[in-house]
Amino acid sequence: MLREERIDAILLTHGHEDHIGALPLLRDWCDAPVYGFPFTLALARRRLAEAEASAGRLEELRGGEKRRIGEFAFTFFRVSHSVPDSAAVLIEAGGVRLLHSGDFKLDPNPPDGESTDREGIAAAIGPGVDLALLDSTNAERPGRALSERLAGQGLAAAFASAPGRIVLTTFSSHVARIAQAAEAALTLGRRLAFLGRSVRTVAEIAERFGRLRLPAGCRVAPADLSSEPPRRLLCFVGGSQGEPFSALARLALDEHQDLSLSPGDLVLFSARTIPGHERSVNRVADHLARRGARVLREADPPLHVSGHAHRDDLADWLDLARPRHVMPVHGERRMLAAAAEVAEARGIPKERIHLLDNGDRLTLSPSGAGVERGVVAAGRIYLDSRPEAVGPDVVRDRRQMAEEGFVVVLLPTDPRGEISVVARGVAAPEAELVGEVGRAVKAVLARASDEERADPDWLRAETALAAKRACRRVFEVRPVIVPVVL
Ligand SMILES: [Zn+2]
Ligand SMILES: [Zn+2]
Repeated sequence: MLREERIDAILLTHGHEDHIGALPLLRDWCDAPVYGFPFTLALARRRLAEAEASAGRLEELRGGEKRRIGEFAFTFFRVSHSVPDSAAVLIEAGGVRLLHSGDFKLDPNPPDGESTDREGIAAAIGPGVDLALLDSTNAERPGRALSERLAGQGLAAAFASAPGRIVLTTFSSHVARIAQAAEAALTLGRRLAFLGRSVRTVAEIAERFGRLRLPAGCRVAPADLSSEPPRRLLCFVGGSQGEPFSALARLALDEHQDLSLSPGDLVLFSARTIPGHERSVNRVADHLARRGARVLREADPPLHVSGHAHRDDLADWLDLARPRHVMPVHGERRMLAAAAEVAEARGIPKERIHLLDNGDRLTLSPSGAGVERGVVAAGRIYLDSRPEAVGPDVVRDRRQMAEEGFVVVLLPTDPRGEISVVARGVAAPEAELVGEVGRAVKAVLARASDEERADPDWLRAETALAAKRACRRVFEVRPVIVPVVL
């Protein structure tokens, strides 16, 4: 169990939610220092404060600077991605070296100037590393990831002909996207508004770090939005995944306190829909169309480009890292397999490409690498209001009760006593269900020997079984059955 192991340091490659979101949980029992680039730590600090967790020690790093913790040495290198200050990490320990790509792409000329530091990485790793951990998110996609500049062009083209307000939704941490959109809008004489808590706080952090430079007077306060001429306005709005209480969802339902959309307004989705959110995004887009707004989600040039390397980029990365072993990470199994294909095509022998599942362990030593399957406890832990985890049996009972209801059977130990049955939340006619279960239980008792009747465990097991069968056979329901021996 992880909680009993000592953790010396936590390394954050960048500030996306799937990389920092677990920090507050970790902080409950682990006070190890957290290392990262400054913008990453600013996002982490905000995440911890929101969860009312202690920040502990946050240690800022610079690119190319080597740090030591115990047996480990590590160095961060800048990479292109879709949030400022993203990093790959070189880790050295026990005579081996591994390069974790982090989430990355190879954008040779990104608008924020944050291109992947290939020279720094090449100089640090020299003849190659023992193991490369490789971002596999886009390993199924051919060619190369498009430059962030292209998304800026797509947005500028869409802005050019917009007659009314422009509403733009993207990931709040995508500062380069917001900066490009802001620049295009300001050129057209539009002013800017930021709606939604996350959009506002990340924009503030980005301004503080000089990542977003906005001229004085270009902002419109939310309270003044209704008096600003529509053709003079660009609103950055949170809720690109159709989140129900986001600013975008409220605009879509015309329930936003500061702004009402009208025909002639343009809503741009400058974000990929994360799998699983398609329905909510479509619903919000439909409601926006009901307001009379024009909704644009795809365009040429595109309104959004990915922050993850495609196959040719991955091949370049492997040529840079020159690894002896490769372990694809950050992806579903099919994506990991696609990254393995790329590695094989770059000449890495199949037996040195390792596809791991959660709970597997890869051990690396100067003489080679070995994989043990399923040796680490991994999976979901359910926590409710109590500090201890809730066991799987309890979770199963709660789900079953929520979905199917429950039936209590009260059994008298006195053979002449009355059996009583109580049902709650079961989708069947109550009187009939109670009658049917009562008859089934009576039949069990009638067949039982005196010895069986005197055994409460036997009574509970047999009556529960009979009640369960009656519910399923007659009413096709599967409630939780609770036998109680009085
Ligand atoms: Zn990321
Ligand atoms: Zn990620």
